[in-house]
Amino acid sequence: MQQYEIYAIKYAGPFTSSGAFIMWMKNWSDTVERNYYFWVITNSTTTIVVDAGVSPQMARQRKLVNYVSPDSALKTIDIDANTVEHVILTHIHWDHAGGLSLFPEASVYVQEKEYQFWMKDPISKSPAFSFFWDEALNKNLSDIENSGRLKLIDGDQQILPGVECILAPGHSIALQAVAVNTVKGTSILGSDCAHFFKNYQHNWPSALIADMVGWMQSFEKLKQKVSSPELLFPGHDPLMSQNYPEIEEGITRLV
Ligand SMILES: [Zn+2]
Repeated sequence: MQQYEIYAIKYAGPFTSSGAFIMWMKNWSDTVERNYYFWVITNSTTTIVVDAGVSPQMARQRKLVNYVSPDSALKTIDIDANTVEHVILTHIHWDHAGGLSLFPEASVYVQEKEYQFWMKDPISKSPAFSFFWDEALNKNLSDIENSGRLKLIDGDQQILPGVECILAPGHSIALQAVAVNTVKGTSILGSDCAHFFKNYQHNWPSALIADMVGWMQSFEKLKQKVSSPELLFPGHDPLMSQNYPEIEEGITRLV
């Protein structure tokens, strides 16, 4: 079985919001900072990028502070975005899928239900959902579909030895987490199945809920699967930058 290291790359932030954004319906008067991340799973033979950050153009439109283009961040750890072979999209929100055009050669793994919802279901264009959408995403996704690089996944599926996509709906219709074989056992990149570590600790969702029952089931599923609780990583927690060794500016080794 292949073993991997996992890196978190902060590509923008911090951004501030009410605490109720992080702990759903709680802590309204707190002010909380969150960062935007994507991740790299790598060993001597294989590199997989998890989520794509956002493109420079989208970062300008959205006025992202402290933005670093994902391809330049990757360059600092000797990864050329132009030749990355595998990109896993955890879900199709702009802050996770908006940089897809920076990975022109990669196979892109996404849950089929997630893809169908955002690309085909008119409900996805209703105001509450279009909050997450961006026209550029449509182009990103049609481009990979037309080039044959789109790999639609149905449920839990190992895509490479030691790397498994795990269906974990809740924050999105068919968000997928990524279970990775590491020196510490099975680690999981949960993406926005929790914005912060404390969502898992308190069994409490963050904001932006597509399916609350699914979310609670996903918490259980990921906690069962991970080798120990501290190996289950959230989507936006600044602790991913603060509590782990920094190997380049904004890049930390999680495992
Ligand atoms: Zn997110």
